[in-house]
Amino acid sequence: MTHQVHIIGGGLAGSEAAWQLAQRGVKVRLSEMRGGGGSTDAHQTDGLAELVCSNSFRSDDDTKNAVGLLHHEMRRLDSLVMAAGEKARVPAGSAMAVDRDVFSAEVEKALEDHPNIEIVRELVEELPAEGLTIVATGPLTAASLAQSIVKATGEDRLAFFDAIAPIVHRDSIDMSKAWVQSRWNKRTDASNEDGDYINCPMTKEQYLAFHQGLMDAEKGEFKEWEKDTPYFDGCMPIEVMAERGVETLRYGPMKGVGLDNPYDTSEEHPQGKWPYAVVQLRQDNKLGTLWNMVGFQTKMKYGAQVDLFRTIPGLENAEFARLGGMHRNTFINSPTLLDRQLRLKSAPHIRFAGQISGCEGYVESSAVGLMAGLMAASELRGENFTPPPATTAMGSLLGHITGDAEASSFQPMNVNFGLFPTLERVPKKQRKEAYTTRAKEDFGVWLSGLETVPA
Ligand SMILES: Cc1cc2nc3c(=O)[nH]c(=O)nc-3n(C[C@H](O)[C@H](O)[C@H](O)COP(=O)(O)OP(=O)(O)OC[C@H]3O[C@@H](n4cnc5c(N)ncnc54)[C@H](O)[C@@H]3O)c2cc1C
Repeated sequence: MTHQVHIIGGGLAGSEAAWQLAQRGVKVRLSEMRGGGGSTDAHQTDGLAELVCSNSFRSDDDTKNAVGLLHHEMRRLDSLVMAAGEKARVPAGSAMAVDRDVFSAEVEKALEDHPNIEIVRELVEELPAEGLTIVATGPLTAASLAQSIVKATGEDRLAFFDAIAPIVHRDSIDMSKAWVQSRWNKRTDASNEDGDYINCPMTKEQYLAFHQGLMDAEKGEFKEWEKDTPYFDGCMPIEVMAERGVETLRYGPMKGVGLDNPYDTSEEHPQGKWPYAVVQLRQDNKLGTLWNMVGFQTKMKYGAQVDLFRTIPGLENAEFARLGGMHRNTFINSPTLLDRQLRLKSAPHIRFAGQISGCEGYVESSAVGLMAGLMAASELRGENFTPPPATTAMGSLLGHITGDAEASSFQPMNVNFGLFPTLERVPKKQRKEAYTTRAKEDFGVWLSGLETVPA
């Protein structure tokens, strides 16, 4: 099949872009490296649109939540990701969660069955020199292609490290040793009577043994080309902090000041019953069943993490819902490199979509893929795509990527009401609903002017 658009990457963004184009009669070649000689550290299968970590598309509330609003807008645009998500849905309260295998299979089947799509299992190593292209290779873009993008954009680098801290099941924490309290009793949620953190105290001996354990633990290796990749601020692995000095952690994530250990019965407390060091856990899900270890992102091997973390008082029998990890996050400086149509200014036949374009998350990546597909379809018809208004979830996300964000500190971003033009005259309590009401009206007007009928 002779294609009109080449999409590189069959993840969330690439799959959605392919669907949107194909539904408009455009012939698409969709290149996916998994199953064709490529792999990433996070993907476990060769399935298209694989969800690499959680199975949640987050809130489905389109009246008070920005990502719920994004769901709403995508559904109105016949999104494949939202339709497959619906078929794969599992119970998750007001959130939208899916069975990841069913979801991926649904997406893949819809694309495979489409007469306008050819799925090719191949690793693309260089940006194509010509032909309409959408690059949707995600946070774990293959190194060879990343090099080619560096060359084309003139950037120094594309990749940073992002961190995942371990998550512990609440009912496996020994609360006869740990206690709930916020530092200096400052709570973010006043209804939370005790505080926002679970604290696991350490004596000096325990801390020194723990520090040594960090130094000795088996670590995962960085690949050769990853070695120069910098960390985001505040995302340094604990073992790297430990290497900087025995006290570094005690003045960082493990500091005990402002926390009064109720189990400490000794008399000598000039300032308070502050532990020598502490490990803090913060609630990670609404149910309060999962708590993450604050600042404990790590490259230690999984077995080493379990062994060492179970030496922490209160965590002797900890069950881990997820262990820590560091992953590469590849993205371009879109505000300077892309135009408003997601095209590379220096090579306008190439569009970027998904996480590599500077959004964050499954839903956002799919939404940007959707818009890239619509833009390419318009371009083929000789038209200029009118973006959704800035007051909508899609429009605000596109604004962040293509120009509204500060280029010098540009970071991938989840959709949120902070990206929307403000509605200051509306009282704060009603503001979220006002944002979504305005967005839905404006989206409807925009949609009525868009050609959405399948060709
Ligand atoms: C470890 C990890 C955990 C994450 N956890 C979450 C989470 O819990 N929730 C959430 O919302 N987001 C999470 N994210 C972010 C999430 O991955 C992305 O937001 C989303 O998957 C990005 O969609 P995408 O389509 O841009 O990239 P992907 O879904 O990663 O798709 C990119 C595709 O391109 C392929 N590819 C790469 N290079 C090439 C090449 N040269 N040639 C051909 N194919 C290529 C890849 O194999 C992949 O299939 C996580 C990311 C990582 C890395």
